[in-house]
Amino acid sequence: MNMTKYLITLVSRRIALAAGVSLLALIVAGCGGKTETDPNAESASGKLKVTTTVNMVSDLVREIGGEHVEVSELMGPGVDPHLFKASFGDVDKLMNADVVFYVGLLLEGKIQDTLDKVKSAYAVTSKIDTKRLDKPEEFEGHFDPHIWFDVTLWVDTVDVVVEGLSKADSAHAADYKKNGEATKAKMNALHEWSLAKVKELPEANRILITSHDAYNYFGRAYGFKVVGLQGISTVSEASLADVAKMVDFIKENKVKAVFVESSVSPATIKRISEDSGAVIGGELFSDAMGERGKMEHGNDVGTYEGMIKHNLSTIVNALK
Ligand SMILES: [Zn+2]
Repeated sequence: MNMTKYLITLVSRRIALAAGVSLLALIVAGCGGKTETDPNAESASGKLKVTTTVNMVSDLVREIGGEHVEVSELMGPGVDPHLFKASFGDVDKLMNADVVFYVGLLLEGKIQDTLDKVKSAYAVTSKIDTKRLDKPEEFEGHFDPHIWFDVTLWVDTVDVVVEGLSKADSAHAADYKKNGEATKAKMNALHEWSLAKVKELPEANRILITSHDAYNYFGRAYGFKVVGLQGISTVSEASLADVAKMVDFIKENKVKAVFVESSVSPATIKRISEDSGAVIGGELFSDAMGERGKMEHGNDVGTYEGMIKHNLSTIVNALK
């Protein structure tokens, strides 16, 4: 091989190599732009990148944002927000979002510090009149954050989402406003449905026993006496004395059923059921909804409306 030929070969190899590398780069970029974990994925689609914490908030944002938003959520079905800690990937999703929505009232207690550092983060509870909130003693001076179980309280989260989306994407503000009104109307109908459903149950039977106090607002709104085991957060475990007291209460009040929760370990409730003779009436969603599109007795438990209907139907049917 003479020198010229050698050089040509070398150069063409370089070109081939360079072309190969750029092709690889293109493939990587192409794939990267479409993976769910890439925080910049949605910008390619022209949609607003919204990061949410629990899936009740995701559903709310999807209802109001419609086709203009791409929702990326930190906590899926079965995840306990009281205990949730953010991974590096989660922090990335928060920092790279156009807007972030979370429940607030310290529901997401272990990531509140991180949320405080996010520029466009909104607590959807921030516009609720605090006169409508309770501070049960178990929560040591803080408000009970489980507001989604009183549908009339959840209605008051809509305006925060409309405002947050409109600020980040003013071009579609009219759509967000219109969708917000429709969402409120849907929720008001759901509240009426709930009030009617409860009437199927004699008043004496309206006692709800579960593992943690997620249902105080539910009890207040729909007329149930709610007895939880663990206190307001799932962090503290029930003591043996708590269990014994609960068993006595069930026997005295002839409570027919107790309920397990999707995001809390069922061990203690199972034990109470065995000791008291009350059956396990079913699984309720508490701090997380179900899988999107999953139907249970005709309700999509991955939506707020479906979750509320599923819970109330399960409770009423078991206590009848
Ligand atoms: Zn909770």
